[in-house]
Amino acid sequence: MPATYDFLIVGSGLYGAVFAQQAFEAGKKCLVLERRPHLGGNLYTQRVEGVEVHRYGAHIFHTNNESIWRYVNRFAAFNRFVNMPVANYKGEIYNLPFNMNTFNRMWGVVTPAQAQEEIERQRKESFTDAPQNLEQTAINLVGSDIYKKLIKGYTEKQWGRPCTELPPGIIRRLPVRFTYDNNYFNAAFQGIPVDGYTSMIEKMLCGVDVVFNEDYLKNREKYSKLAPIAIYSGPIDEYFGYRLKPLEYRSLRFETKTLDMENYQGNALVNYTDRDTPYTRVIEHKHFNFGRQPKTVVTWEFSHEWSPGEEPYYPIEDEANLSRYGAYRELAEKEPGVIFGGRLGAYKYFDMDQVIEQALKSSFELLERY
Ligand code: UDP
Repeated sequence: MPATYDFLIVGSGLYGAVFAQQAFEAGKKCLVLERRPHLGGNLYTQRVEGVEVHRYGAHIFHTNNESIWRYVNRFAAFNRFVNMPVANYKGEIYNLPFNMNTFNRMWGVVTPAQAQEEIERQRKESFTDAPQNLEQTAINLVGSDIYKKLIKGYTEKQWGRPCTELPPGIIRRLPVRFTYDNNYFNAAFQGIPVDGYTSMIEKMLCGVDVVFNEDYLKNREKYSKLAPIAIYSGPIDEYFGYRLKPLEYRSLRFETKTLDMENYQGNALVNYTDRDTPYTRVIEHKHFNFGRQPKTVVTWEFSHEWSPGEEPYYPIEDEANLSRYGAYRELAEKEPGVIFGGRLGAYKYFDMDQVIEQALKSSFELLERY
């Protein structure tokens, strides 16, 4: 049977959608296979009571790359949302990321010099020259008080491992600044699509064939005949039937409720940083779009260890997993006609702009060759 498409794209998340958009624009025929009943992977949003609900957790678009910002603006109008989450530690409210507001609430300090002096004092008590793990890195950055109240409990709930066994890279995602600036991301461009991410993905995929509820891995012989090249954005270990043992991921469980009140928590994101509260954070979706609807939709987010059959969310990039991923990568490089990408295909804790960058790069390379 002759191939009917130029590219078979497995997964309609951001990686697959950007690749498909670029290929379609270059005049290629693409088929997107999506195993869920909707587009967008974990970016999927759904309107409930007039509110765009982030069904698979909060997604706030941010980037320093102007061309990526221009690219996404072709498919969505972005609002001016700036992420300013707060942390709730046993009823005490702190601003995030760690900044002068946090330091003032924690120690009563007012000037940057006073805050630096306090952090320096705490750091000296437990300074580690070459930090090897998340705990040592965090204490070096912000001192032990902030580590204990705002980092340790949250991180251990989110990752299910002691901070002494986690790689430092995770905590380096968070800025530390000595200004009164609650803007979480140090990004030149940020916002949320006014009509939701699903609408953005729909626009990216305009003109592209999409089949829902189809698992490529269960029917790969049939599907691989349809196109000479497959772009695979699912989990790399699942593709190879977990033959080198599964990689580890964290998974999430969401409990969502519509509440008959206008404003539940006064902010889009509240992190619960103590160990005893079972959820990590609470999302009130309307605040992502400055909503004034009479009702509100709220999601409680719980983190747990992933097991096969569940949705993987966060790759756990510690030494053991990265080495296993390296072995899967070797298999992937020998796999003819298949390109792996996205957070799960590359087993990397990517932000959305990094996923887009990666998809654009692969599409430029492939479209030059085919
Ligand atoms: N983190 C923390 N306390 C917080 C928020 C984040 O200790 O209140 C740490 C935690 O280790 C987390 C990491 O910072 O895994 C990265 O947080 P980010 O908000 O970037 O995570 P994401 O939004 O991707 O889940």
